Amino acid sequence: MGVTVTAIPCLSDNYAWLLKDEATGTIGLCDPGESAPMIPAIEAAGGKLDWIILTHHHGDHIDGVADLVARYGAKVVGATADEHRLPKLDQKVVEGDFFSLGESRARVIDTPGHTRGHIAFYFADGGVLLCGDTLFALGCGRLLEGTPAEMFLSLTKLAALPSETLVCCGHEYTLSNARYALTVEPDNAALQSRAAAAEALRAEGKPTVPVTVGQEMAANPFLRAKDVDTLARIRLGKDNFRG
Ligand code: ZN
Ligand code: FE
Repeated sequence: MGVTVTAIPCLSDNYAWLLKDEATGTIGLCDPGESAPMIPAIEAAGGKLDWIILTHHHGDHIDGVADLVARYGAKVVGATADEHRLPKLDQKVVEGDFFSLGESRARVIDTPGHTRGHIAFYFADGGVLLCGDTLFALGCGRLLEGTPAEMFLSLTKLAALPSETLVCCGHEYTLSNARYALTVEPDNAALQSRAAAAEALRAEGKPTVPVTVGQEMAANPFLRAKDVDTLARIRLGKDNFRG
């Protein structure tokens, strides 16, 4: 049956993701940057929270954890490598480990680049990728602690997932990413239509995510970069882009 997922907007442009294992009703929540917007969503899903799933240590992804653990007694899973700067972990994971949400299993993928200890969770059954600030719709995370080579390898791993996989990322950056992406690939028709669709969704106040790996492979210049040098060049361009 697998896992289903819902975006919960929080802070100014973050998304947390509420996950439900359909077989058992086990509930997970990825990257709660604050607790208040999570509570109505958790209550609507049955009023319990079993697991908090963390992709990396930044405050806009973890600052809601303490309150939610106190309120619901949720357990927390995150990267062994970042144990020293994450909330207290009940399960510590490294590349290749599996995390179980009820009967749904997620494979842990090491995705350094944005931060050193950044990880992603891939639920094959249900086709859900929790990728934090590594891959965004039409963009990728800033290289705050990592090199272009590390980010290139991280994106290569995500690009290898099935094309129907839902990319559940940490931020609503799609419009800004689209404006920059169009400077990199102005003639990419898939990108042009994604940019127009994103404009329409945001005009209605709707999230532009999740998107699929296949959609991103067609339109995201960072995921489409053929080598490290290309990725480094377009990442630097985005860092300096004002548009
Ligand atoms: Zn971050
Ligand atoms: Fe973030």
